[in-house]
Amino acid sequence: MSQLNHKKIELYEVKNIDRLPQLQKLSTTERLTMKAVAQVLPFRVNNYVVEELIDWEKIPEDPIFRLTFPQKEMLAPESLDKVIWHLQNSTPEDLRQVVNTMRSQLNPHPGGQAEHNIPTLDGKQVPGIQHKYPETVLIFPTAGQTCHAYCTFCFRWPQFVKMDGMKFATRESGLFQEYLRQHQEVTDVLITGGDPMTMKAKHLALYIEPLLNSGFEHIQTIRIGTKSVAYWPYRFVTDEDADDVLRLFEKVTNSGKHLSIMAHYDHPTEIKTEIAQAALQRIRNTGAQIRTQGPLMRGINDSSELWIQMWQEQVRLGCVPYYMFMERDTGAKHYFELPIIRAWEIYQAAIQKVSGLARTARGPVMSALPGKVAVDGVTEIYGEKVFVLSFLQGRDPNWCKRPFFARYDEKATWLTDLVPAMGEKEFFYENKLKKILKEQS
Ligand SMILES: *Cc1c(COP(=O)(O)O)cnc(C)c1O
Ligand code: SF4
Repeated sequence: MSQLNHKKIELYEVKNIDRLPQLQKLSTTERLTMKAVAQVLPFRVNNYVVEELIDWEKIPEDPIFRLTFPQKEMLAPESLDKVIWHLQNSTPEDLRQVVNTMRSQLNPHPGGQAEHNIPTLDGKQVPGIQHKYPETVLIFPTAGQTCHAYCTFCFRWPQFVKMDGMKFATRESGLFQEYLRQHQEVTDVLITGGDPMTMKAKHLALYIEPLLNSGFEHIQTIRIGTKSVAYWPYRFVTDEDADDVLRLFEKVTNSGKHLSIMAHYDHPTEIKTEIAQAALQRIRNTGAQIRTQGPLMRGINDSSELWIQMWQEQVRLGCVPYYMFMERDTGAKHYFELPIIRAWEIYQAAIQKVSGLARTARGPVMSALPGKVAVDGVTEIYGEKVFVLSFLQGRDPNWCKRPFFARYDEKATWLTDLVPAMGEKEFFYENKLKKILKEQS
């Protein structure tokens, strides 16, 4: 049967995980372990990921399996034992408490997201939006705070709780419109999640269509961050309202604004299926541009060869490679993280082998408290080995593109592990950063 036929989405979560025939090859203990991890880290997978993307002959090493199914090592051994014990011996209420405590210890809001990026309107906080860099506002529609499958590295359970979609969405939509009207410096609106493409076309339209009206001439670009091109490409091809989605995209491009689909890809497998390529084709036919981004993760895509394949295939399909991220400091970071030096080596080995059209991919990038910091390389200055870093985006825009130096450290995995090179007491931005954060709190 062609992959392009209609497929109905079937979701598997911890409650019905035993129904997956593919898991029958695991031992009882392995399955119990998986269920235990899935109590703490959100787990969800769908029939497309299971049937088309995972090679079940290759588990547990298969990268898409590791990307979507909870793995034993994601929890500390004592935490794992504790959850298993409670699963077998205690009440659901006790289990829930144990699990909630563990979750709160896994840095659920990295990068100062919860405290510092939520803007105010007439003195009141505007829920569901973030405004960190002057030209771009992020919108988190309530109904889009879930995904077609969950990535094991993502720790967004504050977003993955179920809420009543419609009513709330409309109210939010009014507030953010008012906020945008008052902020003429904003040129880009980024609709994100979760995955906003889990929303019905008519709900998504509530966020997008108003921006095409007068009063929003300053908004030049609408971006939609999504993983659905990889996890559920049917969204754009055979889903009931797939054509409505495409018509909405066309409405944006016909209005004279730019629509950019920020597609999240982690592995070349995700872009190879017939249905995935059909989705990209249909999106592109609306006049929208597709840009691609994804994090670098140990055991999933930590090889330059995979990034070469990914970027080349993306360019062939008309996409623009955009970011290669470092894994964030949250959730099961210890399981996926790579040293900064390793990340840079992978990036550097990959970027040199692709055409200039794929060298638009910037990386490795840390989306951190002060801004987006790129690792530009390693060099020696007067005998001291250093990392060369620079801001692609900063809480103070003027930090952008000023090279700065950190002491070389082969173990460092995140900006916060680094110290200034050449005997400096702090990085050039730190004093100003403190001031900015203080003003916001
Ligand atoms: C990455 C990011 C943006 C967009 O930055 P670009 O450089 O325009 O891609 C906007 N806001 C936040 C909070 C971000 O992390
Ligand atoms: S698709 Fe994005 S938001 Fe959804 S689980 Fe994966 S990383 Fe998280």
